[in-house]
Amino acid sequence: GIRSQLSMQEQRESLPVFDKREELLKQVQENDIVVVVGETGSGKTTQITQYLAEEGYGNKGIIACTQPRRVAATSVAKRVAEEVGCKVGDEVGYTIRFEDVTSDRTIIKYMTDGMLQVEALSDPDMKRYSVIMLDEAHERTVATDVLFALLKDAVKRRKGSLKLIVTSATLDSAKFSKYFFDCPVFHIKGRTFPVKIFYTKRPELDYIESTIDTVIDVHVNNPKGDILVFLTGRDEIDTCCETIIEKMSVLYKSDPKMAELIVLPIYSALPSEMQSRIFEPTPEGKRKVVLATNIAETSITIDGIYYVVDPGFVKVNAYNAKLGMDSLIVQPVSRAQADQRSGRAGRTGPGVCFRLYTKNAYLNEMSANTVPEIQRQNLSNTILMLKAMGISDVLNFGFMDPPEEDTILSALDELYILDALDVDGNLTKTGKYMTSFPMEPKLTKTLIKSIEFNCSYEVIIIIAMLSVPDVFYRPKEKKERADKMKSKFNDYNGDHLTLLNVYLKWEDSNFSKSWCQDHFIHEKSLKRARDVKRQLLSIVENLDRKERRLDSSVRSCKGNYDLIRKTFVSGFFKNTAKRASNHGHKDEEGSYRTLVENIPVYMHPSSSLFKKHGVDYVLYHTLVLTNKEYMHCITKIDPKWL
Ligand code: ADP
Ligand code: MG
Repeated sequence: GIRSQLSMQEQRESLPVFDKREELLKQVQENDIVVVVGETGSGKTTQITQYLAEEGYGNKGIIACTQPRRVAATSVAKRVAEEVGCKVGDEVGYTIRFEDVTSDRTIIKYMTDGMLQVEALSDPDMKRYSVIMLDEAHERTVATDVLFALLKDAVKRRKGSLKLIVTSATLDSAKFSKYFFDCPVFHIKGRTFPVKIFYTKRPELDYIESTIDTVIDVHVNNPKGDILVFLTGRDEIDTCCETIIEKMSVLYKSDPKMAELIVLPIYSALPSEMQSRIFEPTPEGKRKVVLATNIAETSITIDGIYYVVDPGFVKVNAYNAKLGMDSLIVQPVSRAQADQRSGRAGRTGPGVCFRLYTKNAYLNEMSANTVPEIQRQNLSNTILMLKAMGISDVLNFGFMDPPEEDTILSALDELYILDALDVDGNLTKTGKYMTSFPMEPKLTKTLIKSIEFNCSYEVIIIIAMLSVPDVFYRPKEKKERADKMKSKFNDYNGDHLTLLNVYLKWEDSNFSKSWCQDHFIHEKSLKRARDVKRQLLSIVENLDRKERRLDSSVRSCKGNYDLIRKTFVSGFFKNTAKRASNHGHKDEEGSYRTLVENIPVYMHPSSSLFKKHGVDYVLYHTLVLTNKEYMHCITKIDPKWL
């Protein structure tokens, strides 16, 4: 395409934000807070930081730009480093959980909003920074919402030496401006072309199948232009990619003149070489289809997309009031999201969007906007942070859209039971210790308990394995073989120990790549687990040093794995369940009831305990709601430990 023939500089100057450069810099100079609204792809994320650096803001501190997603932070940092002409980690770097690619020279730093929130704990005034850009504010993640309130105050205290830019694709600018002391709103108009929208006549029974059919139909029957498909997660994307490739190979055979369809996935667990492939221009005469999670909705922009296929679903982490805890659920997108998705088709020329739902669903069933995360998630981590910052009255914290009082109270309750807060709601010693770890309180509590139970070495490995995307993969054509290999790692007491086995065996293989391939294991996930493990070990060691503990807290249980299971009960007692009585019938479903709330939950077939006898009491790591509430990562426990 034309774009690929332009030099990097010409590309930069062709972005809509470029025409607004001087005006924007003037606004930032004259105001401590500016809200910037601009269409996706107009150059907000990659350009504004560079303009600020060119203007000298980097001499007074770091220019930070937050992203709700890890992939966005890393991919944008790589792109900007390329534009600046430096290595990632030099002038341009990124920081995400368990990975810091910055140096003393870094003046433009992309980071997840979660990481900046953690920094606020030790430095509420954000002294290291001259400008903070809270990007993708329309996503309304918990961390961004918390930062809204914290930075609003920090800007006031810094008296002009800290600038705040709140950036977003679509947002209620009047509401934002009002919240930020009536600050100015700056608009960047994108160049967009009309997008023709098609709906299905009837609701689709199987959206995966109709997605695949639509993609192939577009390829076979429509003029050139790349395709972007929105799916909910990695498994779905991998399955779709495999099926499309299979179906295409049949078509190539029957019609040798058929143009090639390049099939590319994009999700956060994908190796980064694969991630960058989606940005490569499509060779002449071929077509590309990118199958993405909602990362491609607004955080990253792929040029050359003319067709969008939108089944209308998204996976979110939501607080489940019935269960009293968070679970991952797949839900319909909001109208605002649907519009963002179709908009992706109109950046290079007039486009087409296939919505795999009815027009009636769009108009009458979908909610207008996405509910801010803070109003649907468990807040124990957030409340712990606020408490650690000395904010005692969390019920009256200045959120833009405050969560329900009940959500805050239940978070306070959880923290009290985990021994992080005392009866008066003040931070305990345990609670203070907990804030040193970048994890949810349940896991931190488990880690602390493991020190007492002398099994912290193994527990740290398991926590690391739980913090990374699923390590096992099952290619469609080799499912049986993959399952057989996986069963070799199975521990008869459950999945937590199975994960430990995988890691230790990988270590035995000397971290071998071919070992991963032979055992159907994602090497990238294991490598990340190794990084997480190292980081957790170093946090524990630093704390030991600080507290002048003479012997190390990190000890191995030397094969006494019951200690490990017992340890997990201390953090996850809320996630325990008892087998449901089934009146002498064979239990085909693996049905259980949670011990605390007596809610029906089911054992997921991927568990090594599935259909095993004598598993009466279990602990699980997460619940995933599909057609039923499924427990994932399950371990057998002894009721005596409760
Ligand atoms: P916004 O934040 O306004 O949505 P971005 O700054 O992310 O816009 O993107 C501006 C342009 O930069 C995009 O249209 C795209 O062409 C280009 N771009 C962004 N990231 C990459 C990348 N990793 N590789 C190639 N081009 C990219
Ligand atoms: Mg952006």
